[in-house]
Amino acid sequence: MKDAITMSGTGLPLVEIDKACEVCSAQGTVGRVVRFEEDGSVLDMIRLCEACWPEHSARYTARWDEEHRVAMDAWARASVRESFRDARGANAIVAAPPSRNITLESATWHGTLKLVNDTLLEYRRRCSAGDDTMREKVRELAKAIAAYAPFRVGDMPFAIENLLREYAN
Ligand SMILES: [Zn+2]
Repeated sequence: MKDAITMSGTGLPLVEIDKACEVCSAQGTVGRVVRFEEDGSVLDMIRLCEACWPEHSARYTARWDEEHRVAMDAWARASVRESFRDARGANAIVAAPPSRNITLESATWHGTLKLVNDTLLEYRRRCSAGDDTMREKVRELAKAIAAYAPFRVGDMPFAIENLLREYAN
């Protein structure tokens, strides 16, 4: 089973100029919302254009998260019933549902912006307590972002510009 952090995804290029957006049919996509089977094969893959990405990546993520939650709830309820049965001598095993294998692959700045905001909030929280040990991690993040910036789609968010000005040198 792959976990959400190490999952490499589909390995496809983020920008696919020959593909059509699956929501508005515009030519050229900048990202995919992907749901994988337990064995790593693709269960669902939705290609989206730049305009559709914010809304529809969130919509599919919310829909599939809800399906996962409902499946987990059903499993948890069945597990409670089966363990009650086990106590009386029955030997039923309830199979767990598949893990939450959802990934967002995008050439837009949205994922990076969230990472930057979360990282800076945590850095400021620690600094306010007199702990400056995250500074090097922030600098490494800024340098990594600067290196892949040419491959992103759309204008760099202002918060990321500021991060690079302050930490990428
Ligand atoms: Zn679209």
